[in-house]
Amino acid sequence: MVTLRTKGKPINIEGHLVGKVSRDIEALNEHTFLLVDNVEQDIPTTKLLGVLTTQQEYKLKNDEKVVFKIPSLQHLENGDIVSVGNDGNINTLYRINSNHNTLLATERCNSNCLMCSQPPRDRNDIPILHEIHKQLIPLIPKDCIELGVSGGEPTLMGELFFSLMEQLKVELPNTEIHVLTNGRSFAWNHMAEKLGQINNRRLMLGIPIYSDYYQVHDYIVQAKNAFYQTILGLHNLSRYNQRLEVRIVLHKQSIPRLTKLAKYIYKNLPFVEHVAFMGLEYIGYTRKNIDKLWIDPYDYQEELSESVEYLASQGMHVSIYNTPLCVLPERIWKYARKSISDWKNDYLPECKNCTKLNNCGGFFTWNLKKHSEHIRPFTT
Ligand code: SF4
Repeated sequence: MVTLRTKGKPINIEGHLVGKVSRDIEALNEHTFLLVDNVEQDIPTTKLLGVLTTQQEYKLKNDEKVVFKIPSLQHLENGDIVSVGNDGNINTLYRINSNHNTLLATERCNSNCLMCSQPPRDRNDIPILHEIHKQLIPLIPKDCIELGVSGGEPTLMGELFFSLMEQLKVELPNTEIHVLTNGRSFAWNHMAEKLGQINNRRLMLGIPIYSDYYQVHDYIVQAKNAFYQTILGLHNLSRYNQRLEVRIVLHKQSIPRLTKLAKYIYKNLPFVEHVAFMGLEYIGYTRKNIDKLWIDPYDYQEELSESVEYLASQGMHVSIYNTPLCVLPERIWKYARKSISDWKNDYLPECKNCTKLNNCGGFFTWNLKKHSEHIRPFTT
């Protein structure tokens, strides 16, 4: 798994600084942190944001901003973007060589899903995260292909959500922006209208629906009226031409009505551009709710195939995420995507000799502990 944070001893750091990292002294500017193991060399401290070093001691030359005694800087590439806090924490916000970068809008959420992979935290992190993202976005390369925004629930940022969307459109006009939201806030028409006014055709909202029956959906997301709010939100958003994706997590609670849900989506939400069927992540709340959620993917092949093929036959764009090929019937392989972000993607030892390894999306690193009983390497 890729390291995304580290920590050292800070000097002269106030608040949060956001900058690119570089090992190249020639490439420094006021938005760059120099990464260096040996600080004996001459460092032009006026031309850089700060110094990040593994050195055990640091003697200040001027009043430069420094974090020293960092265990390792190996995980950082020239051009990665980090935030450095006054507590010495160094968080990687953007990885230059990855197509799976995501901005965490907030850890707050108005739902509390049984299988939440990032359980909500009720603290007001919105102003600080927004401040960090405001500094980050102009530093992201303009040729960035795709950028995610997730939470918590990003729309809980209120007005700041719209400033973030506006800034992304202005600064990264060629980047596909993919926002994960439960969609409930858009039951209030003015929210959908406001997003529509930003009019970013590269913006896609990924919104989950777990059942065609309101009580099942509300139970899964642990929030009363969530189903009606989400469905109304989807309709409001479509009225303003917002591009939409429906996401369905596959587990013991969603599988029994999966084929009915597929029909519901086609009949009631024909405007959605993409429907993603997603394998369960064994992290966050899923671990404590595993008895309520676990069903071996091998055992829901029929429901999944029927649902996927039904929607595809109606002309809808369908994908299967987070599911190894060996637990899918071959006839639906064409819908399976290598969807797991590089930093959390892994394979079992037996996958090493599988002839389909290159086409298989494998597992979340944390799912190596809880996976189908039917993982079988292909030999031909
Ligand atoms: S054995 Fe491993 S690589 Fe092969 S299809 Fe199954 S999960 Fe994928």
